[in-house]
Amino acid sequence: MTGEPAALPLLQMALRVEQDIFVIRQRGREVAAVVGLEHQDQVRIATALSEVARDLLRTAGGADVSFHVDAGADGRFHLRADLAPVSPLPDDRYQPQSGAVSRLVDTLSVSTVEGVTVVRMSRRVPANAPMPTPERFAEFRTELGRTAPSSALDELTVQNGQLISALDEVRSQRDELAVLNEELAETNRGVLALYNQLTEELEETNRGVVALYAELDEKSAQLRAASESKSRFLANVSHELRAPVTAIIGLGRLLTDSASDPLTDEQGRQVDLIRSSAADLLNLVNELLDLAKAESGRIEPDVTEVDLRPLFGQLRGTLRALATRPEVELVVEELTGPALLRTDEVLLGQVLRNLLHNGLKFTERGEVRLRASQHGDRWQFEVSDTGPGIAPELHDRIFEEFYQIPGATRVGGTGLGLPYARRLVTLLGGSLELTSAAGEGSTFTVSLPTGGA
Ligand code: ADP
Repeated sequence: MTGEPAALPLLQMALRVEQDIFVIRQRGREVAAVVGLEHQDQVRIATALSEVARDLLRTAGGADVSFHVDAGADGRFHLRADLAPVSPLPDDRYQPQSGAVSRLVDTLSVSTVEGVTVVRMSRRVPANAPMPTPERFAEFRTELGRTAPSSALDELTVQNGQLISALDEVRSQRDELAVLNEELAETNRGVLALYNQLTEELEETNRGVVALYAELDEKSAQLRAASESKSRFLANVSHELRAPVTAIIGLGRLLTDSASDPLTDEQGRQVDLIRSSAADLLNLVNELLDLAKAESGRIEPDVTEVDLRPLFGQLRGTLRALATRPEVELVVEELTGPALLRTDEVLLGQVLRNLLHNGLKFTERGEVRLRASQHGDRWQFEVSDTGPGIAPELHDRIFEEFYQIPGATRVGGTGLGLPYARRLVTLLGGSLELTSAAGEGSTFTVSLPTGGA
């Protein structure tokens, strides 16, 4: 900690008799004052000196005391007092009588300097005290030389004074502490009240949230029950309707069969009308049944490794028959390279067929195109057309059951195709989205995970 001890000590003294303790104490305080230690520190180092001096007088019969100023590694300087015992210390060790002594100074240690054991203590001088120059050292020495040591009685009086002021300080600190304690208790009471209030509010809010959740649970259970009974109703009704409608179609076919009795032209027209209305009805019933099945979770996807190329070939073939308008071209883009994904081939085929069919139904000129591409771990299927397009505010509505954009009904349909397609895509672990604006054609995008749902 300390640098090389300055060659010449600031002051040297001998400790031989009881009275020397007082002198060492007094001179120690004076040296501390001269080098710039603050009042409190002067008293601290003087007290430490007198304690150590008393110990050494008792255990070693006295000591030679010297004061020095050292430059510290931290750039600050330190007042150092060395007490060299006149006879060896027991076991060459020094243990202060009072443990508090070491707290009065920055360092208190026993060192051996050139074979001589020395009890050494030091205290750091405040940063604002000027670093002493050789001239300043000389001044220190003269200053100390001027003040003659006073009597033990004088030192005792000074010591008493210091004790009284230390007691005063302790008392005022105790009073301050009492005031602080009172303030702290007050603050604590405030914090506790606030905490209680907050806890109450929180509990109140919690009760509200719990009640809200209970209500929500109840509502969603009711909704689930309603949706289940709707699906059940749809499934039952459509199932029950299928047989009579099929019968009507069969009977119509029988009536117009060449083997049956000939009908008049008017009768023939009416039977055709009955047959086509029954076919529409059967279509609706079938779509209702499909949707009810998908909604009730009764469709279990049969996931296998699907090669898209044959599937696309099939779509090209079956839908060509529906592309009756010469102004509309159906393009199912060729897939370059292997195109494999794990999904249910039949359900995917149904979805794409439905979207392409819609494109062909609503597009009057231009083209309807199916394009597939792989992006990371997903396959994307885009069905785009150059048809009338769909205004953004209707993008959600067309996925609702039975919704048809006003004016679109003339091309036929039930309004069940898109909700069914979206159900199926969800079942396959994917999504069905629409990008379109009125007058700009539509693009329906199906995105599916390559590895299956
Ligand atoms: P459907 O086609 O049987 O009427 P969908 O559920 O498939 O029922 O479609 C719902 C409605 O969405 C259609 O009636 C139509 O108004 C609109 N729509 C669907 N596809 C297209 C499309 N490609 N272009 C323009 N409108 C479309």
